[in-house]
Amino acid sequence: MEKSKKHKLVVNKEKYTVLSADTDFYKFVDDSRLYYSFERLICEEDRKKFTDNVAAGFTGWFVVHLEALDGAKIPCYLLMEEIPASDNLELVVLDIAMISDSEWEMSKQCRINDTINSLYADDMFFYYPARNEVEISTGTGANRYVQTMTLEQLQQKLENLAEDKNTVSDFIGGLRSGSRYLFIKLNGSIKTTESEMKHSIIKCSGFYERGVHTMTVGYLHEYMERTYSDTRKIEIDSLTGLIAKGEITNMVIRTIDMEKRQNVSLAIVDIDHFKRVNDEFGHMTGDTVIQQVATIISEEVGNEGLAGRIGGDEFMILFYNAYDLENSRERLRSIKNTVSARYPADVPGQPAITLSIGCAAYPKDASNYEELFALADFALYRAKEKGRNRYIIYNKEKHGTITEIKKTTNTTTRINTRGDMSMGEIMCVIMDRAFSGKVYPVERLLDDYIENFEVPRISVYDRKAGHVLYMAGQQVPSDALIARTEQYILSEYWQKRYANPQTVINDITTVAEEDERVYVQMKAQGVLSCIHIPFQDRNGRDCVLALEAVNKKIAWNMEKVHYFRLMAKILSGYVLV
Ligand code: GH3
Ligand code: MG
Repeated sequence: MEKSKKHKLVVNKEKYTVLSADTDFYKFVDDSRLYYSFERLICEEDRKKFTDNVAAGFTGWFVVHLEALDGAKIPCYLLMEEIPASDNLELVVLDIAMISDSEWEMSKQCRINDTINSLYADDMFFYYPARNEVEISTGTGANRYVQTMTLEQLQQKLENLAEDKNTVSDFIGGLRSGSRYLFIKLNGSIKTTESEMKHSIIKCSGFYERGVHTMTVGYLHEYMERTYSDTRKIEIDSLTGLIAKGEITNMVIRTIDMEKRQNVSLAIVDIDHFKRVNDEFGHMTGDTVIQQVATIISEEVGNEGLAGRIGGDEFMILFYNAYDLENSRERLRSIKNTVSARYPADVPGQPAITLSIGCAAYPKDASNYEELFALADFALYRAKEKGRNRYIIYNKEKHGTITEIKKTTNTTTRINTRGDMSMGEIMCVIMDRAFSGKVYPVERLLDDYIENFEVPRISVYDRKAGHVLYMAGQQVPSDALIARTEQYILSEYWQKRYANPQTVINDITTVAEEDERVYVQMKAQGVLSCIHIPFQDRNGRDCVLALEAVNKKIAWNMEKVHYFRLMAKILSGYVLV
């Protein structure tokens, strides 16, 4: 099996005789084994796994070792598909070594042992310091195509494409030294020579094993340069009428990184304990509060800047003309006080609302958008820490330099500050955090996931005992409701479904048709649609990852299901208690 990495065979379902295969596969079999059943080509220790999976009609990828003539054991992925109205199966055999050993290494690290081939939406980028080689891997599964080059060849290619040669040498230097995060933007595609219309971005991060830089893994993705003009319609957040998240971030980036507009300040505003408002007064009141806060912000900012909604209860403001910051300070004080006066404490039937705000200035404190956001975010975090209901303006003498702050707040910094990362990229950062060897608790992992993938609620259930192990996101239900969860997780309805790699429910009324009780219990929790993915944690405990839409219907995007499954794989590296 030297030339091709993918083989399609047709085998008989009963006896596993190979009815058809490609030339490469027959070469591998050799005349001497031509009449073997497929099962006999599998190493003895994997045969039972194979026959069990055939019997169970398993539809995912799994790994078996095939025995070569010389006795070598070749690890392969197998995928089986029924051929309708026949006694035969179609078998797809992928030679793992031929796909990419780095993926295999990663799969070991992450305990990802199946479905690896379909996980990545973007093209993958690998750099192996030991071999001084770079691989660009395009496509998924059997259609994966790998292009290999030396680091020097890559440098040449990049220099031909990048406008600024310095960014290329920074990038190559970073690769050599195993930097944790690297980023380069190019004016063409490095995959093909003639794709003049395309632009590429490589984002990657170094992987370490026991302190040694073993490889750098990342994503290569095509992007379209977005163009702005004043007549273009600005994307508006439907709830508040403020500028929507992606739009405000792009506008602020343009103002700072491209136009380099002087003397501006960036503020991030977050409603305090907003979850409680939802829990105690309901979602509708929560929505009204968000709208009121937005109106107050927008009236205060007026034409003196930009205001947008960047999260559920979170807003971003860019103030123009922030020469001495006194002006920004005055406005932030006013926003904070107007909100708490509108929603004072101790008014029956109405929540008390306060705000926490962080703010930093450009170019005084930061030299680009990313740093500026990090500083404002840090100041917000300090405001929360100091007891909320306050605004903090970043001050270098008091809070330390950006480098010091980045060091101390490494695990609390946000993943997606620009709002323009692809899902693959976000997953790359999450995996990097999960496998970096630094402390990254499950709770934090789930929060990061919720924030970046806009899943309303994530729960992890113990599949055998039925209870909740972790829950994050919207409207976490009361203890009484959580206790009822036990009844539906343990129901025959769900237990039967846990034989599948995942169950996607876009509308839980379909559950009612099959099991009324399960439907009633799920509905009581406000679940309107969900995805359940069974997995085992590091100690072999049977768990279920549940992504749930609460009080608002979500039709799940099937493209994202791969990322949800990858999340279950990452969780399977943890010991869940
Ligand atoms: P903190 O003081 O630390 O900010 O506490 P918090 O409770 O405000 O925590 P966090 O900011 O994490 O919670 C935001 C909550 O906002 C989570 C989610 O339930 C809720 N939320 C997000 N989007 C919406 C929305 O559109 N409407 C309503 N009503 N609630 C939302
Ligand atoms: Mg909040």
